[in-house]
Amino acid sequence: MKYVLITGGVVSGLGKGVTASSIGVVLQACGLRVTSIKIDPYLNTDAGTMSPFEHGEVFVLDDGGEVDLDLGNYERFLDVTLTKDNNITTGKIYQSVLDKERKGDYLGKTVQVVPHITDAIKDWIESVALIPVDGKEGPADVCVIELGGTVGDIESMPFIEALRQLSFSVGQDNFCLIHVSLIPVLGVVGEQKTKPTQHSVRELRALGLTPHLLACRSAQPLLDNTKAKLSQFCHVEAANILNIHDVPNIWHVPLLLRNQNAHQSILKQLNLLSIAAPPDLEAWTRRAETFDNLTDSVRIAMVGKYVGLTDSYLSVVKALLHACIACSLKPSIDWIAASDLEDDTAQSAPEAHAAAWKSLRNAECVLVPGGFGDRGVRGMILAAKYARENNVPYLGICLGMQISVIEYARSILGLEKANSHEFDEDTPNPVVIFMPEGSRTHMGSTMRLGSRRTLFQTPDCVTSKLYCNPHYVDERHRHRYEVNPDVIGVLEEAGLKFVGKDETGKRMEVLELPGHPFYVGVQFHPEFKSRPGKPSALFLGLILSARGKLEAYLTRHQNGS
Ligand code: GLN
Repeated sequence: MKYVLITGGVVSGLGKGVTASSIGVVLQACGLRVTSIKIDPYLNTDAGTMSPFEHGEVFVLDDGGEVDLDLGNYERFLDVTLTKDNNITTGKIYQSVLDKERKGDYLGKTVQVVPHITDAIKDWIESVALIPVDGKEGPADVCVIELGGTVGDIESMPFIEALRQLSFSVGQDNFCLIHVSLIPVLGVVGEQKTKPTQHSVRELRALGLTPHLLACRSAQPLLDNTKAKLSQFCHVEAANILNIHDVPNIWHVPLLLRNQNAHQSILKQLNLLSIAAPPDLEAWTRRAETFDNLTDSVRIAMVGKYVGLTDSYLSVVKALLHACIACSLKPSIDWIAASDLEDDTAQSAPEAHAAAWKSLRNAECVLVPGGFGDRGVRGMILAAKYARENNVPYLGICLGMQISVIEYARSILGLEKANSHEFDEDTPNPVVIFMPEGSRTHMGSTMRLGSRRTLFQTPDCVTSKLYCNPHYVDERHRHRYEVNPDVIGVLEEAGLKFVGKDETGKRMEVLELPGHPFYVGVQFHPEFKSRPGKPSALFLGLILSARGKLEAYLTRHQNGS
């Protein structure tokens, strides 16, 4: 196994994840098989309990892992399927060491950060690197490891020490360290400053790690003399100083790296030059350029709770982008805080209320994404009602599906108090209820998580046609509540069709409203499996329908073209 370690210096938020994924893409383009590991030095066991407000979206894997959103970047860029073990946290490492200690596995020894924690980190990395993630058999050629945080953080110290030991044990030819750093420019003088990078490289060296390459983030391309300085003071060959300057979209990053021969430097360090092919990035180039040249914008209303931080819905945004590009459209997302649509807001903040409704009315389609808790729920119900009544294409994801069921029960069945048990435990008409897969009384781990199968009840529904599969689809889940099986009969009689169910037939997975141009609710999260070049079927359906092109598309597909 060959390892490429990505560390970061100077400041956080440099786009280390994108850099690491892009390096993976370039290596893949050279014909190598690539896997990846993300290290998050925080104490949480996983991202499951972290607020999207603070940390961005919780990404969900096939195996039910709730992980850092960077893993989403890896899956999308490298088109791989990762496991929860590909995300290492301090919490997981300590938990495994403490479990061993309780079992008496350390045979009376004093259990310490060095060597026990560091050994656990090394063992974890070496065993996870071997898991195939690209659908082929046997381990990948290269494992890209991204160390979260910035070098010098107290909490990343055990990881740095473990990685230092790993670099030594796997040997020179199998380890390549790329340090991502920032080259700021000071306003008045306009000079590119290398000193922060010098300091962070010095810090890295003091901890026993020597960078082979530097990936320097900057607004403008690096000047030759900046590169020369960096090379001299950081002890890194000039050819190995890469520059990731600002680009119009992140798909340019692999191209930028290839143009600077990053692959040559990495392959040389890893002694892989003889087996690697010249990088083939044709599809990436095409996509990046198409993206740059899109002019026709499609207006999408995103009605959610966490609209202040767009990273909260990162995968949904990416999935919209993938679908739009497939239709040669530019996504123009209007973020609507659901609570701004509510009647109360008309009193308390009339301007926000008017602006929210204006955006909604202006939109060509509406998306209500997943969420937890009751904030904004009334606004989401209004958005679903608006889309249903006005024939505006609507996609409800997870909470968004539950919302459309509540709305339908209230407006069409006349059950004014219909609700989800999540928002009103005493509702007389619980149309959405708690349906744990395991125990009803045990509170921990009650979420339905990861990949589950949906069986289409009829091949004659838009969803199955879009998925090009008359029988089933496997998508990822993350929820506790579900449509109450007892109300399916009345809802269906009133026109709302549940066209996708789980294998038991008790869990509703997909709803559609026949006669509406596109009104689809799904209990799963299709956004997690969308890829550049392979857009998620339902996002594609939403966008096509926003432009009135869905039917023509489905007819074309049915005819096999
Ligand atoms: N809060 C809802 C549930 O737990 C929806 C969850 C979601 O949208 N991911 O079922």
